Amino acid sequence: MALIVHKYGGTSMGSPERIRNVAKRVAKWARAGHQMVVVPSAMSGETNRLLGLAKELAPARADDAYWRELDMLAATGEQASSALLAIALQAEGMPSVSYAGWQVPIRTDSAYTKARIEAIDDTRVRTDLAAGRVVIVTGFQGVDGQGHITTLGRGGSDTSAVAVAAAMKAAECLIYTDVDGVYTTDPRVVPEARRLHTVSFEEMLEMASMGSKVLQIRSVEFAGKYRVPLRVLSSFTPWDIDIVEEAKSGTLITFEDDEHMEQAIVSGIAFNRDEAKISVLGVPDKPGIAYQILGAVADANIEVDVIIQNISKDGKTDFSFTVNRGDFARTVELLKTRVLPSLGAQEVVGDAKICKVSIVGIGMRSHVGIASKMFRSLSEEGINIQMISTSEIKTSVVIDEKYMELAVRALHKAFDLDQPPA
Ligand code: ADP
Ligand code: ASP
Ligand code: MG
Repeated sequence: MALIVHKYGGTSMGSPERIRNVAKRVAKWARAGHQMVVVPSAMSGETNRLLGLAKELAPARADDAYWRELDMLAATGEQASSALLAIALQAEGMPSVSYAGWQVPIRTDSAYTKARIEAIDDTRVRTDLAAGRVVIVTGFQGVDGQGHITTLGRGGSDTSAVAVAAAMKAAECLIYTDVDGVYTTDPRVVPEARRLHTVSFEEMLEMASMGSKVLQIRSVEFAGKYRVPLRVLSSFTPWDIDIVEEAKSGTLITFEDDEHMEQAIVSGIAFNRDEAKISVLGVPDKPGIAYQILGAVADANIEVDVIIQNISKDGKTDFSFTVNRGDFARTVELLKTRVLPSLGAQEVVGDAKICKVSIVGIGMRSHVGIASKMFRSLSEEGINIQMISTSEIKTSVVIDEKYMELAVRALHKAFDLDQPPA
């Protein structure tokens, strides 16, 4: 008898009928003798609906008092879906109980809307499991040291599930979603995308951080840190398929020394439309400038991604970087009002219509010429590259948003990702 964590995403929980299917599937696993902890997302569209209501009442603000209420609000989505799943399980004759994050508790820091999990007390969950109940733990949410409800960032239910699996030393964490695994790229953008049977933890980490929303990046970080066996699979298979087959389906995230890894040089392509580019023009080229600009941005708790500084001309240079699109207006405002005057720079300009496209693969470590192949393929499509950033196992480019799909398809083809690896 193993302890298994299942996570079901928004689409998988999207209607009473789908919740009933989830309940039947979970009951099947419980009846096969497993101790089951289930982490559901809110029903699809619900988190957006709730946050939309807040926007109708007042323009978004950047302060804790406001963010606290957003978390209080958004967390209700998962509370509802969790209770509904417990009701559906009970209707299947399976004893079940649901807990909100604060009831477990899942302890987080106080960074509203992007809190980090610090500790999970599993005593209560274990007591219920021992009594033969399926335990449902709300995804996406926790509670800080002062008892305030927090949320973990969009897509955060993945992280809740992996963190619960890590804390409880579960045998496996299964992420059920609306695709049947991790693909070479988003199959909604490239229909020829191929499902990967396995993907290394490092590649998954890069893909997630470069924008593949199939797993939230923090869930992958947790899986790596605590070596949680993690699998992504479909919730849309018939609920009564053979459990042994089901347990082998989808995509397994492997750790580097595991066997059977697919040895492609480039394993996947990720893209991210959620960034915006900001350039500070005419900056004096002298020590301390990067710190003056990016220090102020970091102090405002704004994350910076790709950074470039041009070579200087007549003692002046241009400095560009990307931030989350949601932080765009705030960053421009901050630079104009607080940084520009003391910097002696000429202007701050921004472009929110960009996207970042990345190729990812651990094979890139030992192969040269991969980045240039990427650049050639983009140039053949007439796509201008605005920024480049590389790591050992990925190359990213920032391009005009309108070329995103074209770029992803061209790169998918250029790297033969529609073909199984040799
Ligand atoms: P859930 O609600 O189950 O958490 P998400 O919408 O967050 O589901 O994530 C699943 C989606 O991720 C898929 O529907 C797919 O469009 C998208 N996706 C992006 N990149 C990939 C990829 N490389 N492989 C599979 N799906 C991907
Ligand atoms: N419901 C949350 C969201 O929409 C969390 C999740 O689905 O993982 O972002
Ligand atoms: Mg998700």
